[in-house]
Amino acid sequence: MSTTPALELQGLTKRYGNFTALQSMDLTIRAGEIFALLGPNGAGKTTMIGSVCGLVKKSAGTIRVFGKDLDRDSVGPRYEIGLVPQEINFDPFFSVAESLRIQLGYYGRPRDEARIDEVLTALNLHTKKDAMTRALSGGMKRRLLIAKALVHKPRLVFLDEPTAGVDVELRRDLWNYVRKLAAEGTTIVLTTHYLEEAEELADRVGIINEGKLLMVEDKATLLRRFGERRVVVTFEQ
Ligand code: ATP
Repeated sequence: MSTTPALELQGLTKRYGNFTALQSMDLTIRAGEIFALLGPNGAGKTTMIGSVCGLVKKSAGTIRVFGKDLDRDSVGPRYEIGLVPQEINFDPFFSVAESLRIQLGYYGRPRDEARIDEVLTALNLHTKKDAMTRALSGGMKRRLLIAKALVHKPRLVFLDEPTAGVDVELRRDLWNYVRKLAAEGTTIVLTTHYLEEAEELADRVGIINEGKLLMVEDKATLLRRFGERRVVVTFEQ
């Protein structure tokens, strides 16, 4: 496995006017790991992801993806990234397959029908290939978001609160899918409010609050330090 980190953030800062949403974040994500960024509402998790994915313009700091500085090469490294956003981002009037074809075009890739079939099968959506996206159930929409993020074979995948608002069964399915992706060598960064989710999936966990990365620990150390569930209890007060 490559020793070049999948992601290196140095001094990453985002300000909205006088408000600092992300304050000088330093973080290295190792290639091949599952990293969970754990924090309450408004902590800055989506801002971090958006800065890396080009959806948010950073105020300061450097971002390297597989060793490449995004300020110097803003397109190439981003093709290595897949983003599963919190919210549905596909057009309700396209079919499932059309959504994936558009996504491939967006990443400058040819319309690879075999790849589309492969990703739909992996996410158990192959029977819905020609269905309109608006006709999918909530769980299917969630899986299509993942298919969209993966169809161009990214090496680094961000999942922004992938299981917020999903039922227990789908949560298990999504967790299993994340583990499978990681076993295939994909680097995963997921954000979550739930210590349980970080505990289930992550190799290392970062805790963020009010725009500051408070600590990064391997999972076992974190659980020893805080004791079961106490981090979540603190956030919920
Ligand atoms: P959640 O768990 O609720 O999704 P989060 O940790 O992802 O929260 P962010 O969405 O990154 O948090 O928001 C961090 C802070 O930045 C919040 O206080 C939010 O209100 C603020 N913020 C986000 N986007 C903007 C914007 N466009 N303009 C002003 N403030 C913003």
